[in-house]
Amino acid sequence: MSVAVCVGCGETKEGAFEPCDGCGLDPARGGTDRMLQARSLLLSERFFGEESLKELGRKIRTGEPVSYDTGRLSQLVEELKTQKLPVISRSTPGCSIVTWSVLGMLVVLAAGLAYLYGSWRH
Ligand SMILES: [Zn+2]
Repeated sequence: MSVAVCVGCGETKEGAFEPCDGCGLDPARGGTDRMLQARSLLLSERFFGEESLKELGRKIRTGEPVSYDTGRLSQLVEELKTQKLPVISRSTPGCSIVTWSVLGMLVVLAAGLAYLYGSWRH
């Protein structure tokens, strides 16, 4: 996990999509708020060094305006739209449950068809 800064309060946290201990802001639960997620992603080790992140965090804490790179933000929004980041899918365990229940239903269906086919042949 990389170090990131909370866009809400400037607290340092682990990973851009981790919920913040300071203010409770959870970008992954923002759902469709891609701009919030993009901003969170921007304020992470992926784009800034540790010192810059500390400085950005200090700015947010003291209420100073932080200038986000709008070009990079829209690029990140696009990236979030097209690719499913592992951190996001990790925070939605319901996804795998749906996949498994669909698979289970298919197995039951196949078994049922095989049984019907078998009894029809006899
Ligand atoms: Zn926070």
